[in-house]
Amino acid sequence: MKNVNLEKVSGLVRELLLELGEDVERDGLKGTPMRVAKSLAFLTSGYANTPRRVLNKAVFDIGLNHMVVLRDIEVYSLCEHHLLPFFGRCHVAYIAQGKVLGVSKLARIVDCFARRLQIQERLTEQIADAVLEASGAEGVGVVMECRHLCMMMRGVEKQNAVMSTSAVLGSFRDDPAVRQEFLKLAVS
Ligand code: ZN
Repeated sequence: MKNVNLEKVSGLVRELLLELGEDVERDGLKGTPMRVAKSLAFLTSGYANTPRRVLNKAVFDIGLNHMVVLRDIEVYSLCEHHLLPFFGRCHVAYIAQGKVLGVSKLARIVDCFARRLQIQERLTEQIADAVLEASGAEGVGVVMECRHLCMMMRGVEKQNAVMSTSAVLGSFRDDPAVRQEFLKLAVS
């Protein structure tokens, strides 16, 4: 994914504002096209990132196999259907198989995929896949609960609906006891 051409995107946002009937020369809007361009560049910066780069060798050897759970990681993303935000939290767990990931790195893996145009289902799966690949864990579970502005501000206008998605891999998928333990820790 190439770097965002801020000048070009800014020009396009200006066009868009004009088409929406705005006066792009009024004080409040003068700097808006460039601000929106920079904002979009940041919100889609995940395309230029990879889990491998995010981790930067922060994978540590340990002797034990146990479940690691990181709860309540904040998620902010853009829905690819309306370019409106969806946001909430996610819980990531894995059963280490001799290797653990630096704890802040789990959150960075989430951002790496959240800062793209997404649907919540795919975002959840991509995080699970990336954690499995990076850690070599025997199993991974991810639960995500988000509110979607495209549903709250427009469309069906349901302000309190929270969408839950989950992805389970390895022992989290195959072993009901492991899955139960995960859900108890993550969704309590
Ligand atoms: Zn949407």
